[in-house]
Amino acid sequence: MKKRIPFLELSRLHRSIEDELVEKFKEVMARAVFAEGEEIKLLEKNVTDFLKSPAAIACSNGTDALELALRALDLRPGDEVIVPALTWISTAEAVANAGAVPVFCDVNDKGLLDPEVIEKHLSPRTACMIPVHLYGNMADMPALMAFARQHGLRVVEDAAQAFGAEWGGTSAGLFGDIGCFSFYPTKNLGAMGEAGLIVTGDEKLEERLRWMLNHGQPERNVHKIKGGNSKMDTLQAGILNVKLRHFQGWQERRKKLAVQYLRELKGINGLSLPGEITEDRHNAHLFSVKLRQRDALRHYLDRQGIGTAIHYPNPLPKTPAFFHAKPFPMAEEISRTTLSLPLHPFLTDEEINFIGGSVREFFERNV
Ligand SMILES: *Cc1c(COP(=O)(O)O)cnc(C)c1O
Repeated sequence: MKKRIPFLELSRLHRSIEDELVEKFKEVMARAVFAEGEEIKLLEKNVTDFLKSPAAIACSNGTDALELALRALDLRPGDEVIVPALTWISTAEAVANAGAVPVFCDVNDKGLLDPEVIEKHLSPRTACMIPVHLYGNMADMPALMAFARQHGLRVVEDAAQAFGAEWGGTSAGLFGDIGCFSFYPTKNLGAMGEAGLIVTGDEKLEERLRWMLNHGQPERNVHKIKGGNSKMDTLQAGILNVKLRHFQGWQERRKKLAVQYLRELKGINGLSLPGEITEDRHNAHLFSVKLRQRDALRHYLDRQGIGTAIHYPNPLPKTPAFFHAKPFPMAEEISRTTLSLPLHPFLTDEEINFIGGSVREFFERNV
């Protein structure tokens, strides 16, 4: 009986740092501060240092980070925000919940926003765009920022999948007016529950964001603006502080395994590989391949005991919540053909070999 290889196996990661995690749990319990406090400050400092960002603001999750970012930019009702048709649903939800209108834009063959396509969607109401670094692969931020400046658009980066990716030495999230991260457990840097983070180099925006996520308070009982409760759990900050000590090493392992995949899967006719995954601009969050027989391969791998995932089965404008009749050819094609193979730092070389071999076998049997 073969052992299953799940798409993601966080228990292996947790086992490897169990003593440190337990130590941190005990510390936080003893201190008995479960909101704000020094653990949150330490996380903000650690992330500021790691990303080389001017500021880092811990918050409740990545979805709230996006909504806070859009609210902080003071969009007017009816303002339009450019959103890629292919992304996790949070990107569009945040726009709608902030009272603006998501305008879906088709993506390039990597699933990313491109200035040429955005141009066709501009209107006098376009106020902002949200590039998404899909699968951990950064959109061309220098080009997108030049385009945004030329057209007077604000930019919120959805860097929820891109912690650790950088372009020309600048981290994902630091190009736009505001950058948003998620520490959902399945991301490269994940908490043990919900958590997110916002970066910005604009001190006025930073101040507003900090007030907004804590009931509009610059200090206790002073409600200067309308806000809400989007604070990060102190315990989650503690877990992230422990995991950050190991993050660089995990990233290196991810990259090594990705290179091994690329070697194993090279030259298979009809299989398109994410070659850019070895570059700094990609944090190797997901190893997503494309092929016409996606569903058949998924089924085949499942029978071999290999878990896979689809990011994402439907473009947002093809979901009931955000339906739009217009075609989004590239986003639709990626949704039909993309498959994410297991990639996390605790996979063994043998497991990658086995997965690679199984994919190759599928193609040999199905020519
Ligand atoms: C995960 C994710 C989010 C949302 O983050 P949560 O912390 O789960 O709320 C937003 N956008 C993208 C692209 C994501 O992958």
